[in-house]
Amino acid sequence: MIEIKSFTFNPSFYENTYVLYDETLECIIVDPGCFFKEEYDELDSFIEDYRLKPVKLINTHCHIDHVLGNAYVKNKYKIPLYIHKLDMEVLLAVKVFSEMYGFRGYEEATVDGYLKEGDQVDFGSSVLNVLFVPGHAPGHIALVSEEQNFAISGDVLFDGSIGRTDLPGGNYNQLIESIQTKLFLLDDEMIIYPGHGPTTTIRKEKSTNPFCRLAI
Ligand SMILES: [Zn+2]
Repeated sequence: MIEIKSFTFNPSFYENTYVLYDETLECIIVDPGCFFKEEYDELDSFIEDYRLKPVKLINTHCHIDHVLGNAYVKNKYKIPLYIHKLDMEVLLAVKVFSEMYGFRGYEEATVDGYLKEGDQVDFGSSVLNVLFVPGHAPGHIALVSEEQNFAISGDVLFDGSIGRTDLPGGNYNQLIESIQTKLFLLDDEMIIYPGHGPTTTIRKEKSTNPFCRLAI
């Protein structure tokens, strides 16, 4: 049984970082947006208090707000980093953006493996399925638990909104297609854990999201 702990990090971005763990106490860390000492401490304390053993670090996509803590988490827990190959360029650009945004001391983390649609991410006794949902970023993925009916879906679909597509590599039509032909085919009751803001459900966004009115 997977438990999900969410953190909201960074006063500039309000980015959701997720720790997923199960009864084996193995965990994965998704989109570590932490950058300041208090944020690292908050993440570490949770892992320590629950006696978790991090085994994988995953980025749903590689915009700056989702990867600021990659190097810290990777070095601290000695775990491999996985992204979708098509977001490699986005990740490499973060160094420049981090200086523009004033995040001094951003450290790059090396990528250890790529995830693509149809792959499975396992930890402990749990398994998540990888969906490819580009548009907000070229190599954007979502992690789906069919069994427990939830998805960690990054910046594709939000409560009442969708991911922006004006950043480099963004593509509005591709984003809408990802929502309509991937996310909206998931179970209506599936809970969406987005990269920003509160959780929502597929049903709620199908029926009320103004950007998804043409939904199937
Ligand atoms: Zn993003």
